[in-house]
Amino acid sequence: MDHRSGCLICGKEIVYLKNEKKQQCLYCRETYESDVTCIDGHFVCDKCHSLPANDLIEQTCINSKLEDPLELSLILMKNPKIKMHGPEHHFLVPAVLLTAYYNKKEEYGKKENKIKESRNRAEKILGGFCGSHGICGAAVGTGIFISLITDATPLSEKEWKLSNQITAENLLTIAEWGGPRCCKRDTFLSIIGAEKFLRKHFGFTMNIDKDIHCEFTKLNQECKKTDCMFYPR
Ligand SMILES: [Zn+2]
Ligand SMILES: [Zn+2]
Repeated sequence: MDHRSGCLICGKEIVYLKNEKKQQCLYCRETYESDVTCIDGHFVCDKCHSLPANDLIEQTCINSKLEDPLELSLILMKNPKIKMHGPEHHFLVPAVLLTAYYNKKEEYGKKENKIKESRNRAEKILGGFCGSHGICGAAVGTGIFISLITDATPLSEKEWKLSNQITAENLLTIAEWGGPRCCKRDTFLSIIGAEKFLRKHFGFTMNIDKDIHCEFTKLNQECKKTDCMFYPR
Protein backbone atom coordinates (compact mmCIF):
# COMPACT_ATOMS: atom_id res chain seq x y z
CA MET A 1 0.00 0.00 0.00
CA ASP A 2 2.70 2.49 0.80
CA HIS A 3 6.48 2.45 0.65
CA ARG A 4 6.94 2.03 4.37
CA SER A 5 7.86 -1.65 4.32
CA GLY A 6 9.48 -2.21 0.94
CA CYS A 7 12.16 -0.29 -0.96
CA LEU A 8 12.18 3.43 -0.10
CA ILE A 9 12.60 4.32 -3.74
CA CYS A 10 10.18 2.04 -5.58
CA GLY A 11 8.22 0.20 -2.87
CA LYS A 12 9.22 -3.20 -4.21
CA GLU A 13 10.45 -6.14 -2.20
CA ILE A 14 13.72 -5.97 -0.24
CA VAL A 15 16.07 -8.89 -0.85
CA TYR A 16 19.07 -10.11 1.10
CA LEU A 17 22.01 -11.21 -1.04
CA LYS A 18 24.20 -14.20 -0.26
CA ASN A 19 27.28 -12.00 -0.24
CA GLU A 20 27.80 -8.32 0.42
CA LYS A 21 28.49 -6.20 -2.66
CA LYS A 22 29.51 -2.60 -3.30
CA GLN A 23 26.40 -0.46 -3.62
CA GLN A 24 25.93 3.28 -3.99
CA CYS A 25 23.38 4.95 -1.68
CA LEU A 26 20.75 6.81 -3.69
CA TYR A 27 20.67 9.65 -1.17
CA CYS A 28 24.29 10.38 -0.17
CA ARG A 29 26.07 8.75 -3.17
CA GLU A 30 28.50 7.03 -0.79
CA THR A 31 29.49 3.45 -1.63
CA TYR A 32 29.01 0.73 0.96
CA GLU A 33 29.42 -3.03 1.15
CA SER A 34 25.95 -4.34 1.85
CA ASP A 35 23.85 -7.44 1.35
CA VAL A 36 20.52 -5.57 1.36
CA THR A 37 18.97 -4.26 -1.85
CA CYS A 38 15.58 -4.12 -3.54
CA ILE A 39 14.71 -6.41 -6.44
CA ASP A 40 15.35 -3.45 -8.78
CA GLY A 41 18.75 -2.78 -7.21
CA HIS A 42 18.00 0.39 -5.22
CA PHE A 43 20.12 0.88 -2.13
CA VAL A 44 19.82 3.30 0.80
CA CYS A 45 22.55 3.28 3.47
CA ASP A 46 21.81 2.95 7.20
CA LYS A 47 22.94 6.51 7.91
CA CYS A 48 20.47 8.00 5.42
CA HIS A 49 17.79 5.65 6.71
CA SER A 50 17.99 7.31 10.13
CA LEU A 51 18.61 11.00 9.34
CA PRO A 52 16.00 13.55 10.46
CA ALA A 53 14.00 14.99 7.53
CA ASN A 54 15.85 18.26 6.99
CA ASP A 55 19.29 16.65 7.37
CA LEU A 56 18.27 14.07 4.78
CA ILE A 57 17.12 16.80 2.38
CA GLU A 58 20.29 18.83 2.91
CA GLN A 59 22.72 15.92 2.50
CA THR A 60 20.91 14.43 -0.48
CA CYS A 61 20.76 17.74 -2.33
CA ILE A 62 24.39 18.64 -1.63
CA ASN A 63 25.49 15.26 -3.03
CA SER A 64 23.01 14.96 -5.89
CA LYS A 65 23.99 15.53 -9.51
CA LEU A 66 20.36 15.46 -10.71
CA GLU A 67 19.14 18.33 -12.85
CA ASP A 68 15.41 17.59 -12.59
CA PRO A 69 13.99 19.10 -9.37
CA LEU A 70 10.80 17.03 -9.60
CA GLU A 71 12.71 13.77 -9.89
CA LEU A 72 14.80 14.76 -6.87
CA SER A 73 11.71 15.75 -4.88
CA LEU A 74 10.15 12.33 -5.54
CA ILE A 75 13.27 10.49 -4.33
CA LEU A 76 13.16 12.52 -1.10
CA MET A 77 9.41 12.18 -0.57
CA LYS A 78 9.64 8.40 -0.71
CA ASN A 79 11.75 8.41 2.45
CA PRO A 80 9.45 7.88 5.47
CA LYS A 81 11.27 10.73 7.23
CA ILE A 82 9.43 13.09 4.90
CA LYS A 83 5.89 12.93 6.18
CA MET A 84 2.83 13.09 3.95
CA HIS A 85 2.36 16.66 5.16
CA GLY A 86 4.84 18.72 7.15
CA PRO A 87 7.06 21.80 7.26
CA GLU A 88 10.02 19.85 5.81
CA HIS A 89 8.41 20.60 2.42
CA HIS A 90 9.19 24.31 3.00
CA PHE A 91 12.88 23.43 2.83
CA LEU A 92 12.50 20.67 0.24
CA VAL A 93 11.25 23.13 -2.40
CA PRO A 94 14.19 25.58 -2.40
CA ALA A 95 16.67 22.73 -1.80
CA VAL A 96 15.71 20.73 -4.91
CA LEU A 97 15.44 23.91 -7.01
CA LEU A 98 18.88 25.17 -5.94
CA THR A 99 20.33 21.71 -6.57
CA ALA A 100 18.90 21.39 -10.07
CA TYR A 101 19.82 25.00 -10.90
CA TYR A 102 23.46 24.85 -9.84
CA ASN A 103 23.92 21.31 -11.19
CA LYS A 104 22.70 22.40 -14.62
CA LYS A 105 25.02 25.43 -14.51
CA GLU A 106 27.81 23.14 -13.29
CA GLU A 107 28.42 25.60 -10.44
CA TYR A 108 28.79 22.85 -7.88
CA GLY A 109 30.89 24.99 -5.54
CA LYS A 110 28.07 27.47 -4.92
CA LYS A 111 25.46 24.85 -4.13
CA GLU A 112 26.28 23.80 -0.57
CA ASN A 113 26.18 27.26 1.05
CA LYS A 114 23.02 28.22 -0.80
CA ILE A 115 21.27 25.01 0.29
CA LYS A 116 22.31 25.54 3.91
CA GLU A 117 21.12 29.14 3.85
CA SER A 118 17.81 28.07 2.30
CA ARG A 119 17.38 25.72 5.25
CA ASN A 120 17.98 28.53 7.77
CA ARG A 121 15.32 30.58 6.05
CA ALA A 122 12.81 27.77 5.43
CA GLU A 123 12.92 26.60 9.04
CA LYS A 124 11.41 29.96 10.05
CA ILE A 125 8.21 29.07 8.18
CA LEU A 126 6.28 26.99 10.68
CA GLY A 127 3.95 24.11 9.92
CA GLY A 128 0.36 25.02 9.10
CA PHE A 129 1.22 28.57 7.94
CA CYS A 130 -0.96 27.97 4.87
CA GLY A 131 -4.05 27.82 7.05
CA SER A 132 -3.11 30.22 9.83
CA HIS A 133 -1.30 32.94 7.85
CA GLY A 134 -2.65 32.47 4.36
CA ILE A 135 0.72 31.67 2.86
CA CYS A 136 1.79 28.18 1.81
CA GLY A 137 5.38 27.36 2.75
CA ALA A 138 6.01 25.65 -0.60
CA ALA A 139 5.30 28.95 -2.38
CA VAL A 140 7.58 30.79 0.06
CA GLY A 141 10.19 28.16 -0.77
CA THR A 142 10.26 29.42 -4.36
CA GLY A 143 10.71 33.00 -3.08
CA ILE A 144 13.66 31.78 -1.00
CA PHE A 145 15.07 30.11 -4.13
CA ILE A 146 14.91 33.25 -6.29
CA SER A 147 16.18 35.41 -3.43
CA LEU A 148 19.23 33.14 -3.10
CA ILE A 149 20.13 32.85 -6.79
CA THR A 150 19.81 36.64 -7.24
CA ASP A 151 21.35 37.53 -3.83
CA ALA A 152 18.28 39.64 -3.10
CA THR A 153 17.98 41.70 0.08
CA PRO A 154 15.17 43.93 1.36
CA LEU A 155 17.00 46.84 -0.34
CA SER A 156 17.34 45.22 -3.78
CA GLU A 157 15.31 46.46 -6.72
CA LYS A 158 14.92 43.91 -9.53
CA GLU A 159 15.90 40.97 -7.30
CA TRP A 160 13.40 42.03 -4.64
CA LYS A 161 10.67 42.24 -7.25
CA LEU A 162 11.43 38.79 -8.71
CA SER A 163 11.57 37.11 -5.29
CA ASN A 164 8.18 38.47 -4.30
CA GLN A 165 6.72 37.87 -7.74
CA ILE A 166 7.49 34.15 -7.84
CA THR A 167 5.98 33.62 -4.38
CA ALA A 168 2.88 35.54 -5.45
CA GLU A 169 2.44 33.64 -8.71
CA ASN A 170 2.87 30.23 -7.13
CA LEU A 171 0.65 31.11 -4.19
CA LEU A 172 -2.11 32.09 -6.59
CA THR A 173 -1.81 28.79 -8.47
CA ILE A 174 -1.86 26.87 -5.17
CA ALA A 175 -4.89 28.84 -3.94
CA GLU A 176 -6.82 28.26 -7.16
CA TRP A 177 -6.57 24.49 -6.80
CA GLY A 178 -8.31 24.89 -3.45
CA GLY A 179 -7.99 23.24 -0.05
CA PRO A 180 -7.51 21.13 1.92
CA ARG A 181 -3.77 21.55 1.90
CA CYS A 182 -1.64 18.88 0.34
CA CYS A 183 2.10 19.29 0.81
CA LYS A 184 2.76 17.04 -2.20
CA ARG A 185 0.44 18.90 -4.60
CA ASP A 186 1.64 22.31 -3.40
CA THR A 187 5.28 21.24 -3.70
CA PHE A 188 4.81 19.90 -7.24
CA LEU A 189 2.92 23.05 -8.28
CA SER A 190 5.65 25.27 -6.82
CA ILE A 191 8.46 23.41 -8.57
CA ILE A 192 6.64 23.45 -11.91
CA GLY A 193 5.85 27.15 -11.37
CA ALA A 194 9.50 27.90 -10.60
CA GLU A 195 10.62 26.16 -13.80
CA LYS A 196 8.23 28.31 -15.83
CA PHE A 197 9.35 31.46 -14.00
CA LEU A 198 13.04 30.74 -14.64
CA ARG A 199 12.37 30.27 -18.35
CA LYS A 200 10.41 33.50 -18.61
CA HIS A 201 12.52 35.83 -16.48
CA PHE A 202 15.99 34.29 -16.64
CA GLY A 203 15.98 32.51 -20.01
CA PHE A 204 17.05 29.44 -18.05
CA THR A 205 15.66 26.01 -18.90
CA MET A 206 15.53 23.27 -16.29
CA ASN A 207 15.51 19.60 -17.26
CA ILE A 208 12.11 18.84 -15.83
CA ASP A 209 9.67 16.02 -16.56
CA LYS A 210 6.29 17.54 -15.71
CA ASP A 211 4.37 14.37 -16.44
CA ILE A 212 4.27 13.18 -12.85
CA HIS A 213 1.69 10.99 -11.19
CA CYS A 214 1.37 11.32 -7.44
CA GLU A 215 2.37 8.15 -5.62
CA PHE A 216 1.14 9.35 -2.24
CA THR A 217 -2.63 9.43 -2.63
CA LYS A 218 -3.20 6.44 -0.35
CA LEU A 219 -1.29 8.17 2.46
CA ASN A 220 -3.41 11.30 2.23
CA GLN A 221 -6.78 11.08 3.95
CA GLU A 222 -7.83 14.40 2.42
CA CYS A 223 -6.67 13.62 -1.12
CA LYS A 224 -8.82 15.46 -3.66
CA LYS A 225 -8.35 12.50 -6.00
CA THR A 226 -9.69 13.25 -9.49
CA ASP A 227 -9.88 16.96 -8.56
CA CYS A 228 -6.06 17.03 -8.39
CA MET A 229 -3.98 17.30 -11.57
CA PHE A 230 -1.41 14.87 -10.18
CA TYR A 231 -3.86 12.09 -9.33
CA PRO A 232 -2.92 8.97 -11.34
CA ARG A 233 -5.43 8.30 -14.12
ZN1 LIG B 1 13.61 -0.22 -5.34
ZN1 LIG C 1 23.37 7.26 2.30
